[in-house]
Amino acid sequence: MPTCWAGSMGNCNGGISREHYISKSLFKSSAISVEGFPWCKGTARTVGIESLTAKILCQTHNNGLSPLDKEASALFDAIREWCRRENIRPNTSPLARIARPPTVVNARLLERWFLKTLLNLSLGRDYFIGVHGLEKGVVPLDLVQICFGEIPFDGASGMYGAAHAGMMIASHDTVMFAPLLREDRVLGGLFEFRGFRFVLSLLPDGLQTMPQLEGVDAGWQQAKLLHPIELIQMQISHLITVPVIRFKW
Ligand SMILES: [Zn+2]
Repeated sequence: MPTCWAGSMGNCNGGISREHYISKSLFKSSAISVEGFPWCKGTARTVGIESLTAKILCQTHNNGLSPLDKEASALFDAIREWCRRENIRPNTSPLARIARPPTVVNARLLERWFLKTLLNLSLGRDYFIGVHGLEKGVVPLDLVQICFGEIPFDGASGMYGAAHAGMMIASHDTVMFAPLLREDRVLGGLFEFRGFRFVLSLLPDGLQTMPQLEGVDAGWQQAKLLHPIELIQMQISHLITVPVIRFKW
């Protein structure tokens, strides 16, 4: 019998949702590449985005998180469009490229979307979830409440930007996820979309340096962590940098 992972908050209603709006709005590829879990056995596994939403949240709680999907979707559309323009018009004058305003993102909604996705991927696995999880594979109440915006992220936990020189822009919707594991706990995750990198940390003390993760692209290890992340900018020539995404907190 499937249950809702937000059930500890109460008010479950409408049966277990089968809505798949993430796959329809967010990812054209409808799959996410997952690595770093033992069940991946050293290679990236592809997980259907639809399997991330089906039968794990009731209708009420699924609907309650839809603003998160909308925000992530808007950001990924903007990144997709930005990459498309950079790929097809590499010779556009720098002035025209500077003139483009950055995409403004509601950082708190996006941060909660990363948490929701991390929870979806960690659900039912052989790991405690977060600092306070008491039962393997079960989302603890504090993370449910953070995900639904009822309480803030604890201390310095939350979304980090992971900036690195020489970022490669992917021409396809490549979405990568790898969990931050410590012993038998999931304490965060790495996310990459078309080369744009984010870390979600569940550690209240914060992340000062990138954790060493086996099998993860070397660029990650050189990344500088930005928290709170305010702006992602790209260098388009050795003199010119343009703002691409501005995060509104
Ligand atoms: Zn529910």
